[in-house]
Amino acid sequence: MLFLGIETSCDETSMAVLDTAEGVLSTHTASQADIHNLFGGVVPEVASRNHILKLEPLYEKCLADASIRPSDLDVIGVTNAPGLIGALFVGVGFAKGLGYGLKIPVMPVNHLSAHILAAELEHKELKPPYLALIISGGHTHIYDVDAALNFRLVAKTVDDAAGESFDKVAKMLDLGYPGGPAIEKLAKSGRGDAVPLPLAMKKEDNFSFSGLKTAVLNSLNKGIYTKEDLAASFQRTAAETLVLKTMRIARRLKRHNVVVSGGVACNGYIRETFRNSCKKGEHVYFPSFRLCTDNGDMIAYAASRFYSRRRFFSLEGTAYDTQPEIG
Ligand code: ATP
Ligand code: MG
Ligand code: FE
Repeated sequence: MLFLGIETSCDETSMAVLDTAEGVLSTHTASQADIHNLFGGVVPEVASRNHILKLEPLYEKCLADASIRPSDLDVIGVTNAPGLIGALFVGVGFAKGLGYGLKIPVMPVNHLSAHILAAELEHKELKPPYLALIISGGHTHIYDVDAALNFRLVAKTVDDAAGESFDKVAKMLDLGYPGGPAIEKLAKSGRGDAVPLPLAMKKEDNFSFSGLKTAVLNSLNKGIYTKEDLAASFQRTAAETLVLKTMRIARRLKRHNVVVSGGVACNGYIRETFRNSCKKGEHVYFPSFRLCTDNGDMIAYAASRFYSRRRFFSLEGTAYDTQPEIG
């Protein structure tokens, strides 16, 4: 079966064609990072307008690259939650119009479930049950995924998301947007133990990143630390928090496989800290860099994984900026 995946939840317009037998046939992403960089962060209305401009050309490219006609498509999967509401409306409207025209079902896909399932695309041996940590621009959530593909929220951030804290610390250090890659680069020339920073809510499952951000700001204002040391110490503390809580929950729930996904999972230091924390029999899976950030592949794949539930959009189907339940 051929699935078209459409992603417009934030500042990337992305689309992919997935053949359930052959894998991903084509994929294209139009990033708006350069545009939003001018404003120091994502401007929702600007994002919506750019999605409108990009969807049609991406659709033409995806079909051409996959050497298929529109009538070959069987199902459309589209991100309908969570994300920027205007941006989501653009993708959902496009998908519903296309599905109506082609007379094929359109499936709403939860963006977070897709970030998690992205890990299965490249690791064929990986199947639920597993514990999944999403560390992205808007979320820091841990889900327990059972063998029947039910998602249960086990922990989340009580304030900033992990990616948000990377972006905000990068802003303090004048590194531009998005901040994650810039922090990682700068941290390579710094010492992770140079600046004392707090590991928040150590005993609890939930995360908190806002205190860490403030601690970095206070340390910066002391004027005695280099930007390199601040970046490295911040990154190290963030990595230790993520690993400590995720692996502790995994062990408590007896999950031997752990998935770490979302844009922050591109971070090499965080990947290494997770790998080093694994005991015998434990495995941590990361999608490749491209599949960690927003992409159409994961939306098409999630649609294919949920297809048997037959939860298709009616013409009234819509988008939601938040929607904690997945499935
Ligand atoms: P969500 O999925 O929660 O709706 P999003 O889709 O905007 O949010 P992603 O695109 O998955 O989030 O990830 C973007 C985030 O990842 C940004 O905050 C960015 O700074 C962060 N990021 C990207 N690369 C790295 C890196 N190498 N190290 C740390 N953070 C990174
Ligand atoms: Mg993004
Ligand atoms: Fe995302």
